[in-house]
Amino acid sequence: MTYRRTLKRAVGCTGIGLHTGRPVRLELKPAPSGAGIVFRRVDLGVSIPASLSCLDRLDHATTLTRDGASIDTVEHLLSALFALGVDDALVEVNGPEVPVLDGSAAPFVILIHEAGLKPLPESREYLRILAPVEVVHGGKWARFSPADHFRVTYTIGFDHPLLRHQNASFRVNAEAFTEQIAPARTFGFLREVETLRRNGLALGGSLENAVVIGETGVLNNKLRFEDEFVRHKILDAIGDVALLGRPILGHLEATKAGHALHAALCQKLLATPDAWDVVASAEQAPLVPRPASAPALVPDAS
Ligand SMILES: [Zn+2]
Repeated sequence: MTYRRTLKRAVGCTGIGLHTGRPVRLELKPAPSGAGIVFRRVDLGVSIPASLSCLDRLDHATTLTRDGASIDTVEHLLSALFALGVDDALVEVNGPEVPVLDGSAAPFVILIHEAGLKPLPESREYLRILAPVEVVHGGKWARFSPADHFRVTYTIGFDHPLLRHQNASFRVNAEAFTEQIAPARTFGFLREVETLRRNGLALGGSLENAVVIGETGVLNNKLRFEDEFVRHKILDAIGDVALLGRPILGHLEATKAGHALHAALCQKLLATPDAWDVVASAEQAPLVPRPASAPALVPDAS
């Protein structure tokens, strides 16, 4: 059995929001067992749980909304909290967006390490995938299938010479996330930057916090990994499935997907009760006994 964990102490940082371009203060704080990850807009006095039920827009980032208050670009921070095994934490922000920092999850990993982790008295519950669940949209798809650990396999293919095909697969734990996934930065195409800005998005975007892809190559000096793009998609996908609210025992595979398809997969999973259960560890029986799928055989009276 493993125990739920929270942060040992409060830590914080300040940075600009990718879309608004305005400075925002972020504080990560310990939370009681069972609280889950909860965002708090301290400027509005509204708490927004990191849950699928609060999911709002999914166009360029993942946005959570509750009682008219929203918090944008939550996926990189949620990805780091999920992969490092933080079950319960309060995330205070004084604006509408989590700071983008360097466009990756590496600064959040450093913050979480700085805070330290503290075990809580309650045991952790895992969401275990029992049967495949899939969503398909044209040539894009995402699927959960059974596995005794959490693995993510991702394939991307864009209409650009640098990004025609990249594929990567990781067993996701704190070490693999910290070294192989967290440093991968957000990326965008130069040709799309103007459109984004006309729509009031990416106002805080720069070469300091995103890899920008021009016609023939990246505008930044160099990539952190040769396949940094697909690694960032893995980072985003982990942050999106974190909205299921429990660590996962299963294999997430996706091809050419994005925030909307990740969310659709999570919603379909929850709507398919035979495809998952909740266990205290990979080896254990379900915490809530499942009803038998077929009625017991009754001996024929004659
Ligand atoms: Zn991202």
